[in-house]
Amino acid sequence: MKKNGTKQEVNLINLVERYHDEDNCRAYLEELRWPDGVICPRCQSKSISRVEKLHIFDCNSCRYQFSVTSGTIFHDSHLPLWKWFATMYLMIESKKGISANQVKRTIGVSYKTAWYLCHRIRSAMSDGTPNLLKGIVEVDETLVGGKRKNVGHGFKGNKTIVIGASQRGGETRLQVIDSVDRKALHQFIKENIAPDTEAIYTDEWPAYQGIADEDTRHETVNHSAEEWVRGDVHTNSVEGIWSLLKRSIVGSYHKVSVKHLDAYLNELEWRFNNRSNEHLFRDTLLKLIASSNLEYRELISGRA
Ligand SMILES: [Zn+2]
Repeated sequence: MKKNGTKQEVNLINLVERYHDEDNCRAYLEELRWPDGVICPRCQSKSISRVEKLHIFDCNSCRYQFSVTSGTIFHDSHLPLWKWFATMYLMIESKKGISANQVKRTIGVSYKTAWYLCHRIRSAMSDGTPNLLKGIVEVDETLVGGKRKNVGHGFKGNKTIVIGASQRGGETRLQVIDSVDRKALHQFIKENIAPDTEAIYTDEWPAYQGIADEDTRHETVNHSAEEWVRGDVHTNSVEGIWSLLKRSIVGSYHKVSVKHLDAYLNELEWRFNNRSNEHLFRDTLLKLIASSNLEYRELISGRA
């Protein structure tokens, strides 16, 4: 993977300088949430009184009292905002992700708190309705977890299948799928790649057959015959993501349960697709503001 040369507007130094105290964090959230002045979340009135001491706003029209965190992921959190900011920073800054154990040690919270915090931030990172990929798109699958070595398309064992699509020079989409049969692969391609995309590159797995049409080429490289690159036909971009994913799981998360794998994939996707975004800190915070609170019991029941 190429080294990321983007200069982030937030680094560890100014993270500490700017957001070490609650008032600064709150002021930044306010600026992001209401760039044109505070608006009542209930009646949209802009006539607001500020109750400075209590950090609340009083709506002059409907009398609703609210704070900058009302209705956001931060609401009802007992954690100081700077711990949220610091954890979010650690998550977007570490290319391979960061484990709940590391967060626990770094910001001084219990493991359970760290785990829940990471999951809430992760769930906010998932892109709402992402654009369809276009141009030249590589598609490939890989097996994650379990004990058996990858023994080819036909054998899954206790591993989980992850499919990915990478637009050349663009974004990547990742997803857990149940099988590598034609139906599953074609459905993933349909949901993630523009119908008139120029070309789709895959390996020779027969279930990919039929994805070409009059405005989309389908080219394959024959991995079983040791053919990895033919001209510009290869799946090296998406395979780079697989090595990143595997290093994340081995290096940072250690053990990722299947029910949470999609969430980890979202996190990786978000970080990877924003690798050139120097406003990643701000943009992730905007995601958190827009995300409502994810209940702990929802998380552990695996519905989220
Ligand atoms: Zn109001």
